[in-house]
Formats: sequence, structure tokens, C-alpha cells
Amino acid sequence: MRDEAKALDAADELAPFRERFHLPEGIVYLDGNSLGALPKQTKKRLNSVICEEWGEGLIRSWNEADWIDLPQRVGAKIAPLIGAKPEEVIACDSTSVNLFKLIAAALAMRPGRRTILSEPGNFPTDLYMIQGLEAQGLARQKLVSYQELEAAIDDDTALLLLTHIHYKTGRMHDMARLTKAAHEKGALVLWDLSHSVGAVPLELDAKNVDFAVGCGYKYLCGGPGAPAFAYVAQRHLDAPQGFRDGVNGQQGAFSQPLSGWFGHAAPFAFDDSYEPAPGIDRLLAGTPPILGLSALEAGVDLIADIGVERLWQKSHRMSEFLRSCLAQLGCDLELVSPADPSLRGSQLSFQHEEAFAICQALIARGIIGDFRAPDILRLGFAPAYLTFADIARTAEELSDILSTRAFDRLEFRQRRAVT
Ligand SMILES: *Cc1c(COP(=O)(O)O)cnc(C)c1O
Repeated sequence: MRDEAKALDAADELAPFRERFHLPEGIVYLDGNSLGALPKQTKKRLNSVICEEWGEGLIRSWNEADWIDLPQRVGAKIAPLIGAKPEEVIACDSTSVNLFKLIAAALAMRPGRRTILSEPGNFPTDLYMIQGLEAQGLARQKLVSYQELEAAIDDDTALLLLTHIHYKTGRMHDMARLTKAAHEKGALVLWDLSHSVGAVPLELDAKNVDFAVGCGYKYLCGGPGAPAFAYVAQRHLDAPQGFRDGVNGQQGAFSQPLSGWFGHAAPFAFDDSYEPAPGIDRLLAGTPPILGLSALEAGVDLIADIGVERLWQKSHRMSEFLRSCLAQLGCDLELVSPADPSLRGSQLSFQHEEAFAICQALIARGIIGDFRAPDILRLGFAPAYLTFADIARTAEELSDILSTRAFDRLEFRQRRAVT
């Protein structure tokens, strides 16, 4: 197994990129799907933004260091990773806030329809944001299992809101098929790409998607709490704007309710009346977080440099290698991710009633994966900085922990605020 790993690493054309990340000695990091590792370039970039642009440039840096264009610039760099045009993507706010803006926008574009359709077990914030709009009397949440989604789209459905790759199981939805099914019933679609962007190739324009959001701190390596991004298809940005008509505005008009000054057509005119900016800029609400966006830009640059297609291929090889090592070791953990690698994202999830303690025991041995309640051990493969030797070591430790019941200790059962 170790020899096989050595051969795979020697043949791996992405191996040199590991050097571009800061990684702690002796750690195998299988949680890049939750918080991506630190690119070395980010340290330099943040140091220069802090010491030079902020320290020396002060307020002049909004113009001179181009701070003012960062949300659009970073959005334009994310665009090719998701199959979008640069003008369709902007980096701003959190994924949660972007969900709110786009769900509300979809409701306004489909007056007379109130249902937001999703699935039980979707990422909590997606469902909570629907519920927030429901509490305002603007939406009605409907949840059906993923096999029943297509049949459940009806003429009250304003929006189908799904996470493309399920955060817990890694299962991937058929984006083209579901988008088409929604459109046939007059509904819009919003895809949450948090576990997809930077991990799997995406084609939002080609698949005729309406809206998407995604996370900056997972595979994009933007740093803890990095800004997220939002995508709006050009055809919606081009439609006549309906802000003044509010939620009962004209069908087809795209507007979002967090109408802050940075989304204004002329923020520095300081006018009393809100006038949405043309294009994707109207997604902005307040002053962009420059430190966060600068770090995100460094992460996006690096992932774009490596290339999503190559990352995706290596991720397949890694997850299949782990499965084959576990099988060789006679370790029969129950896989809840799809067995076919083309149907899952860049992770393997295993179900075990002791998943929490097993995860803690792995961490104690220097292998950082994570646990998702109630019983899932989740191992993420961020191929930009993982080696096949890491995978072989993971299989050996995991198999040993299970066969010796090394997880069965009090210290591995203590839960802290973040699991
Ligand atoms: C990580 C994740 C989020 C995160 O949302 P935040 O607003 O950044 O906390 C949202 N949706 C999905 C599917 C995620 O995996």
C-alpha cells in the first residue's frame, strides 16, 4: 500500500503545488472541505495589504490599490471555475446572506408564487433562510426527498433551492436535469455550490442556471469566514429592473432587498433615493471587507492556477485509493457517499455510531477529518495539497483505531462548541 502510494505520488503532476501551501508538520489534513489550508502567498498578500495599503496608503488605497473593485475582480476570477461570465459573479457577504438576497429576488420575480422547494437535510443555513422569509410572510417552505423533487415542482414553486453536493454525504445532484425541470414549470433555480466550487468542474451558463451562491473558505482557501460569492445569470441582470415596484414588481425583474449604498448605481453621489447599480454590482450591500477579499483572491488565484479539472481527477484517484486501502486492510466501514466517484463530490462519508469518537481518535494521531451529527465521519480530499502517502497513512490509522477500539476512551467523547 505504501509502495503504491509512493508510485502514485511520483506520477502526480499536481504534487509540486503542495509547496505553495503552509501545512503543519506531521498532519494529514482531510478537512479542506470545511476550512481550506493556508496558501503561502496569502501571508505575503495580507502583510502587504495591512502594512502598505492600509498602513501607508490609508484611505487613498480605495482608489490607488483598487480596493473599490475587489468584489468584482475576485468574482470575475471565480467565474471560470463555475462556468460563468466574469460579469455574472461577485464576491461579497456570507453564503447565508447571499442566499437571503437571492431567495428574496426569486420571490419578487415570480409574483403570485410563494413556494421555495428544497430537500430535508439540506445544509441548515439554506433552510433557515427560507424559514426567515416564511416568518416575514413572503415564502412557503416545502421539503421533499431528493427522489421526489422533480415531481414536486408545481405552479406555486417560485424557486428550487438545492445544494449541489450534499455537505454530509457528498452526493451530487444532476444540475442540468433539475434546472430544466424547474424551468419547465416556470420556476427559478438557486444552487448552493459551497462544496462544489474549486473541487468539481461546473457549467452554470451552459446549464441555464438562474442563481448560485458558494463559500470562499472551503476549497477556495480564502481563510476563516472569507467572503462568499453570488452568481446571477446575465439574462436576469439585463431584464428591466423592478426595485421601485417592490416584491410585486414586474415579472422578470431582478432586484434584491438588501439595498445598501454599495449596490447603488452611484454610491458616492449620496442620493436619498436608492437606484440599483446595473449588472451584478447591485448584489452589494455595504462596504466590502478588504482584508477578507484580499485573502480570498490569493486562494482563488492558486486554485485557478492548478485547474479544477485536474483537481477533480486527482480527487477521484485519492478517494478510490482510500477505499482500496481500507478494503485491503479488511476495514468495512459503511460508506454513505455514492460508490460511483462521478456521482459524489470530493469527500467520503462513513456512517458509524461512534463516528465522533473515531474522528477524535484520528485527530489525536494527526489526521484531521471531521464529524457531522449524528453519526457521520467525513473525510474531505482537497487534492491541491494532499499526497497519496497521506491517504495510505489514513487508511492504516483508521483501520487500527477500529480494530483495536482505540476510539473507546472518555477523552474522545468530549464535545466542544465546534464539532
Ligand atoms: C459551508 C456552507 C455554507 C456556509 O454558509 P456561511 O454563511 O458561510 O456560514 C452554506 N451552505 C453550504 C451548503 C455549506 O456547505
